[in-house]
Amino acid sequence: MTDVHSPAQRSHNMSRIRSRNTRPEMIVRSAVHRMGCRYRLHDRSLPGSPDLVLPARGKIIFVNGCFWHLHNCRYGRVRPANNAEFWEKKRSDTVTRDRRNRQQLRKQGWQVLTVWECWTRSPDQKLMPQLEKFLID
Ligand SMILES: [Zn+2]
Repeated sequence: MTDVHSPAQRSHNMSRIRSRNTRPEMIVRSAVHRMGCRYRLHDRSLPGSPDLVLPARGKIIFVNGCFWHLHNCRYGRVRPANNAEFWEKKRSDTVTRDRRNRQQLRKQGWQVLTVWECWTRSPDQKLMPQLEKFLID
């Protein structure tokens, strides 16, 4: 299929379509579900449309891709060879937005956990301990 969009338009589209229902998200959802928590998905009424909202517990979980959200890990440290400046700005804008969203949510009384995509690669090592710590109390 021919790509009818200019690069600028395409990148705009990509930034608008935040990936939903990704594999990392599904892993987190099923883990949270197994721990007996009820959640809402992608609540657009809250800053940053959090991936999981646990209203009964006042808790919110973001599932962040390491590349897009500049995680300090081997996946997040990848630097694209082309348009390096463009990507650098885009990703640092995302980090700024993430921080602002978390601050606003905390101000509203929510507890916020950021889960990183790389944690879901071997869930027992990082994901599960972090989730348990966050959800139990
Ligand atoms: Zn990572």
